Amino acid sequence: MPIHPALLDLYTNHTRKPKELWVSNLSLCPRYEFFHYKFRPAPRMNDAILSGIFLHRLVQEKLKEDGYEVEKRVEYDLGDGWKLVGRADAVKDVVVEIKTTNDYTKDVPEHWVLQANFYAWVLGIDKYIILIIDKPTGHYQEVEFDVDEEKAMELVERGKEVKECIISKNIPDGRCDWCLKYCEFSVICERFS
Ligand code: SF4
Repeated sequence: MPIHPALLDLYTNHTRKPKELWVSNLSLCPRYEFFHYKFRPAPRMNDAILSGIFLHRLVQEKLKEDGYEVEKRVEYDLGDGWKLVGRADAVKDVVVEIKTTNDYTKDVPEHWVLQANFYAWVLGIDKYIILIIDKPTGHYQEVEFDVDEEKAMELVERGKEVKECIISKNIPDGRCDWCLKYCEFSVICERFS
């Protein structure tokens, strides 16, 4: 049986390049992106992550048929050769960011909003949709937002802060909330809280 292309992508497209900061990680937590950049962990694989990746692919295939450009590279110049980079899930007249969850009735998490808002802002598109798919039931909801420039600048400031922290080898502040239960860096992170 051939390896699914999404699995190959998981390794080939997730190799870190110097001076590139990832919008997805940075939206979650500046300290997470700092550790991720410094330690470059291998992509994680478990049932939940894999099912999320495959669901992404299925939905992206459908959006592609509807004329969307998928996995569109997004870049923002932070100066001195540093960049914020990411890949928007699907782009046409609106940016669509696909998220999979085990409880889609909860409020949309702020880090999802920061990420999708930033992609739309950089691409000059004034609306974005976060498509939330509930993995256990297959239910989904689409939540539409107007681009918020202030939120986009918040992420730019985070990027600048993490860039300086990487250069100076100082650990930035982290969110240190529920993330401590799940984050792969929590063991070291707690020592700096
Ligand atoms: S445990 Fe939380 S605060 Fe620490 S690096 Fe991970 S996400 Fe950031």
